[in-house]
Amino acid sequence: MNFEELLKGRACSCGMNHTCAIKHIIIGKGANEKLGALLGDYRKILLVADTNTYAACGDTVKAQIGDKLESLLVYERDGLLIPNEEAVGEMQAKLTDETDLIVGIGSGVIQDTCKYVSHKAKLPYAIVATAPSMDGYASVGAAMIMGGMKVTYSAHVPEIIIGDIDVLKDAPMDMIKSGYGDILGKYSCLNDWKLARIVRGEYFCPYVYDLTMDMVVKTRDLGERLLARDPDAVQTLMEAIIGVGVAMAFVGNSRPASGSEHHLSHYFEIVGILRGEDYFMHGTDVVYSSVYTQRIREQLLKLNTPEKNVLLSREAWEENIRRIYGKIADSVIALQDKMGWYGEDRFPVYSEKWPEIQAVLAEAPSAEEMLGYIGSIGLDLAEFDALYGEKKIDDALKFAKDLKDRYSVLWLYYDLLIS
Ligand SMILES: [Zn+2]
Ligand SMILES: [Zn+2]
Repeated sequence: MNFEELLKGRACSCGMNHTCAIKHIIIGKGANEKLGALLGDYRKILLVADTNTYAACGDTVKAQIGDKLESLLVYERDGLLIPNEEAVGEMQAKLTDETDLIVGIGSGVIQDTCKYVSHKAKLPYAIVATAPSMDGYASVGAAMIMGGMKVTYSAHVPEIIIGDIDVLKDAPMDMIKSGYGDILGKYSCLNDWKLARIVRGEYFCPYVYDLTMDMVVKTRDLGERLLARDPDAVQTLMEAIIGVGVAMAFVGNSRPASGSEHHLSHYFEIVGILRGEDYFMHGTDVVYSSVYTQRIREQLLKLNTPEKNVLLSREAWEENIRRIYGKIADSVIALQDKMGWYGEDRFPVYSEKWPEIQAVLAEAPSAEEMLGYIGSIGLDLAEFDALYGEKKIDDALKFAKDLKDRYSVLWLYYDLLIS
């Protein structure tokens, strides 16, 4: 993909001027060797890694920074590094009045923490990716764990993203699988985006939709080659991962990258943190969840005409939200009260536009096809069913939507299919 061209942005027929504040995206073999040339006038750089990511390419990156290195922070860790107050504090302690750039080496946690700290300090940051594990590199969202809870802050995009295929292809395989899953999940969210346009008249951009879909189509058949760590396949996956981030920047929200399947994955993560229960890596949860959102679409396609559902009473709904979300239930209820969608009758819209709605639902690949992609990279939906069980999945399908202020097929499910 020609990122230089893409980053120029576009005055679009959708009425928006699509822009992205990222200055440089370099993905390729030996890309890390190109970092030095992009550092321009920066003089006092804080380099951040953890022991694993430093081992992956720390010395190369440090050499590229050369005498512009002000300080180095390598998080020591036994288990997983958590993007919490402690990690933030450690990084902030390394900043001086003169620090002018933060360079992070890593994937999810390191990039989220660098994004968060640099935004607070009003400093630019660059990220040297070590795994094609999720599509957050190019997004503004910093997913942190604060006060023991997952909180996504709106921060800023990096100035530079480097993805060296020689490093990325050697990432832990479960991270590569997760990245592939995050991209395949776009089939579900892109369909939700079209659905929201019909049902709620939401903003929609055909150009950004096509741009994202094109990346999904290029990635979908690479499962086996990714398992073999084929460099060209890893390159295509990484380009999709970064490209989707640019697509989000283009529309100013995460519509092109996150829909019902992400709402389900966030549910499993958030409930997992609340209850101390296991959950899968982000993109793995996403792609498994996308089979379930697709099964909903297939159920909806069987409805010749929508029939008015008997909805839960306010009391029953609240009872469920409190049972599921425990100490964060109040904020979930407050969000839904603010949106007021429970007090809205969407049935007339469903009735009037049912053929149009079904035509969109029919566009998404079948659950069977999704299972084929999942299997191609050695994932098996049975492990998802076994980890979460029927009740937790059923709760997710009914109440994951309540974590968000976004319309998706989960609302259609709630409005027309639950009993
Ligand atoms: Zn547009
Ligand atoms: Zn994702």
